[in-house]
Amino acid sequence: MDETRVTVRCRDCPLAATHDALRDARVALNDHESTTGHAVDWTIESLDSGVSQAGADAGVCGRPERANEDSPLVRPPASETDS
Ligand SMILES: [Zn+2]
Repeated sequence: MDETRVTVRCRDCPLAATHDALRDARVALNDHESTTGHAVDWTIESLDSGVSQAGADAGVCGRPERANEDSPLVRPPASETDS
């Protein structure tokens, strides 16, 4: 099954929501933008962050560079506090 999750977060108000389908997220995004004129960000998470981290650690994914850093839709989680 596809475990895609899309997080929609507004830059101009505290709105934040997670959708199971890209289509639903886009509808919500467009609806909020057209209604309020706010700028809405969205982030696609194909897998639970813990799962994809475990997959990366184990190297079982078969696609070591799964994330496309050039894509504005893909952002690494800001959970790394290694300084
Ligand atoms: Zn808003």
